[in-house]
Amino acid sequence: MNASGNVRNGIGMTSDRTRRRMIDRLRDGGISDEVVLRAMSKVPRHLFVEEALASRAYDDVSLPIGSGQTISRPYTVARTCELARNGTSLKRVLEIGTGCGYQAAVLAELSQEVYSIERIGALLSGARVRLKSLNCHNVRVKHADGSVGLESLFPIDAIVVAAGAIEFPKHLMELLTQDGRLIIPLGEGKQYLTEVTKSESGYDLKKHDEVSFVPFLSGVVVK
Ligand code: SAH
Repeated sequence: MNASGNVRNGIGMTSDRTRRRMIDRLRDGGISDEVVLRAMSKVPRHLFVEEALASRAYDDVSLPIGSGQTISRPYTVARTCELARNGTSLKRVLEIGTGCGYQAAVLAELSQEVYSIERIGALLSGARVRLKSLNCHNVRVKHADGSVGLESLFPIDAIVVAAGAIEFPKHLMELLTQDGRLIIPLGEGKQYLTEVTKSESGYDLKKHDEVSFVPFLSGVVVK
């Protein structure tokens, strides 16, 4: 990535400093994977939201990204990436729910290859432009329904689902390597970031932080 944090008017020279403050807050909040923290210190989050919201991009809040969807708060992105990485280096990651592309850009710093799938065409077009302008050439984005037809992507080390489901999509586990992990917000009513690890005997489920994600839906839409 070669983007400077000073690209956009309004946030200007302060973005490097506010980004550093975000990293300190994440560390204080319990994020301990320095590789994830370094990745998040590199990605200019303010370039992934509308200009009017850029000054809030480094606050620990989720923000609207259009089409009724949201970019997750920095803590949730960090925690998801920390769980996906599990202290290992990743070869191939799949993200379902590209949204504005922010998490894909962070994952691009953590994995050799990133595949990111988005069902809403308008969001995907924006994400594609941003990821290209930030030189994230190891990310491939696709307009598709991420709940079907991804067999050709095997073998994947980690799958990150950026939308909430009631039950975990078991067929996605077939795309994973042994000990590969699926990180997904799960639950009805209350949602928890859940880590599902593929083991020899099946799957191990571990519940983590309470979260609030937009729903995991099927089918593709243009806007
Ligand atoms: N990681 C994103 C978060 C986007 S919000 C970011 O950094 O901005 C979650 C996204 O998941 C939404 O854009 C929504 O359209 C998408 N989504 C929900 N169900 C999906 C599915 N079955 N396939 C692909 N994308 C899906």
